[in-house]
Amino acid sequence: MRKLNAPILAPLAVCILALSLAACNGSDTQSSVVTETTTDEGTTTDTSTDFVVEVDPFNFESDALISSITTQTCTLSNGDEASCYKIDIAGAPSNYEIGVFCPRNITSTADEAGIWFDGTGEVYDITGDFILNLPTLYNDNHWQLYDEGTGLVNVTDTQESCDGAARPNVEEQYQNHCVECSIDYVDGGISESFLIPITPVATTQNSSIGNTNVGVALNGVVLAAPAPVEAILGAYTIAAFDDCAGHINLVAGYHYHGEAGCSQTQIQSDGHAAMMGYALDGFGIFGMLNEDGLEPTDLDECRGHTDDTRGYHYHAADVSENMFIGCFKGATAR
Ligand SMILES: [Zn+2]
Ligand SMILES: [Zn+2]
Repeated sequence: MRKLNAPILAPLAVCILALSLAACNGSDTQSSVVTETTTDEGTTTDTSTDFVVEVDPFNFESDALISSITTQTCTLSNGDEASCYKIDIAGAPSNYEIGVFCPRNITSTADEAGIWFDGTGEVYDITGDFILNLPTLYNDNHWQLYDEGTGLVNVTDTQESCDGAARPNVEEQYQNHCVECSIDYVDGGISESFLIPITPVATTQNSSIGNTNVGVALNGVVLAAPAPVEAILGAYTIAAFDDCAGHINLVAGYHYHGEAGCSQTQIQSDGHAAMMGYALDGFGIFGMLNEDGLEPTDLDECRGHTDDTRGYHYHAADVSENMFIGCFKGATAR
């Protein structure tokens, strides 16, 4: 992984100069938004729940970034001029080792391989039994991901085969393969730069995720658009994820397609689900379940809601769903 020397978060200097911890904790990043409504009866003021929590660079794991977070002017999708953080993530998790992905033979057990989810609400351990069961699962006898003589699974275990298979248009020779790539093929991770509004701006109309990245995880990994399941299965391949719901291709490097708990690094003190990342609109993304094991019941179509501590924020979808959030509530940088 290529890294710049001594990355220091820019706001750290502010905190040191302020010589006060109070200037460095979360309280200075929250600002109340007062909504004034003029009616026939006069002006009413509502300060009840509408406040916005700014992006906090200190939420990122230090090794998640390859350089200091800097501030620059940006134009948002709603046309507003704003201040954005430029966040350069490492493209590899700061808190665990990547892998494993594909099983090697039809007797492999769950801990010898990763997981697969196709967006149907199920997450599967890619065991040998899973490989054997593919024709039944997808109701198609063309599935044959292993050698019947040896029991060995067809795995794209070279850079050339990874390149030919870990793409939407899978080369024909790699049909009926379990697809995986080594992080070594991309020098330990592909760093990526994101512009995220420092102060999230809710928009009147939610915007769809489409085929773009969704955000960044606090441990330095991209939250990617849904995996192109139709193309993957259409080529009789399984684009195996590791147990953290990440996998590798040569263009994007290591990236997540689901929230499996591996990036939930910011534990909340009030029993709320831990924080795992930021969406591109600057709103925080938290785990699906609160500490009591329950999912909030008041999530909107973007999978977000508001509370007095975090302002508007998202709760990630279940890992089986091949998505993180339902839509963007706020404006993203253009
Ligand atoms: Zn992918
Ligand atoms: Zn919440």
